[in-house]
Amino acid sequence: MDKILDTRKVDKFGKLLESASSIVLTCHVRPDGDAIGSTLGWKHLLERLGKSVTVVVPDNAPRSLLFLPGFDGIAVLTRHEEYCEKLFREADLIICCDFNQPSRLDRMQGLLETSSATKVLIDHHVEPSPFADIIFSFPDMSSTCELSFRIMAELGLYSEMNIEAASCLLTGMITDTKNFTVNCKSPDIYEILQRLLEKGCDKNRIVRLALLEKSYGALMLEAYALSSKMEVFPEFHGSVICLDKWECERFHYEKGDTEGIVNRPTEIRGVTFSFFLREDSDCVKVSARSIMDFPVNLMCKELFGGGGHVMAAGAEYHGSLQDCRRILVESFPKYAAFLKGRTEKLDYFDAKPVK
Ligand code: MN
Repeated sequence: MDKILDTRKVDKFGKLLESASSIVLTCHVRPDGDAIGSTLGWKHLLERLGKSVTVVVPDNAPRSLLFLPGFDGIAVLTRHEEYCEKLFREADLIICCDFNQPSRLDRMQGLLETSSATKVLIDHHVEPSPFADIIFSFPDMSSTCELSFRIMAELGLYSEMNIEAASCLLTGMITDTKNFTVNCKSPDIYEILQRLLEKGCDKNRIVRLALLEKSYGALMLEAYALSSKMEVFPEFHGSVICLDKWECERFHYEKGDTEGIVNRPTEIRGVTFSFFLREDSDCVKVSARSIMDFPVNLMCKELFGGGGHVMAAGAEYHGSLQDCRRILVESFPKYAAFLKGRTEKLDYFDAKPVK
């Protein structure tokens, strides 16, 4: 495995862990498999070392992660506000996983910023803000779970890792890489996979529960979005899908249901980028994916004040769904320059219903 960690930083973190008596692990709002996997992974490991550890998250994690060991013990701010405040107040070490800015904690941001605890950031998003005392930031890494494994190994704690910790870390690697199909060029990741499997993890079960399984409504909503709501822009090699509140409600929308939809248009030959706009209660959620380094993070940032990775980004737009779509579509000519080299014809035709 390539040595990428700064040994002195890891040693300093090790000392912090040794002396800490009350540890809070936290992650970004609308937590995903990597956010929950990394925080719970650390929790299981640190508890083996006799530490008092709690995972505190800004809002509910999706149902698809319910199978993770320790899920029941997660403290959720929107459900137990006072308890979460107490945990932050009493913590002497806060480990922040899978986010780069305190604002990603949503309503929990204040608790982090006013806490006098030592803070450590473990993350793989670009441009981390310097809010933590120790920062492990590797945007090239597949997942915070991969980075966490590397830190644990460097701390000499692999032997302490139990199947619970390993399963949580593997879950984040699987969800962030879509079962090792994206962000997994480095050979190291397969060595880490092997080390985790050696702990007895059931990879097939994790893939099925965390990645594949969904409700009837979620599957039908995706089918509807693709068959009735997908707009393709052949001249720009792009696609946009918009869903309003009523459409989501019709399919009994639950948080996380539309997660994979944004990826689907990029499966079309010749499509370079895909935007998915969903009307939420107080804003429009924008998510974007691309291939071949087309910078959707730049578009999200410049158009809507969002951000993310080059090929996976998002934003929130405060205004109507129609305005959001219009701003986006009108911007396409501006970003066409980034399509350079994309000469392949886009595989598209107008599929009018047969009479
Ligand atoms: Mn992640």
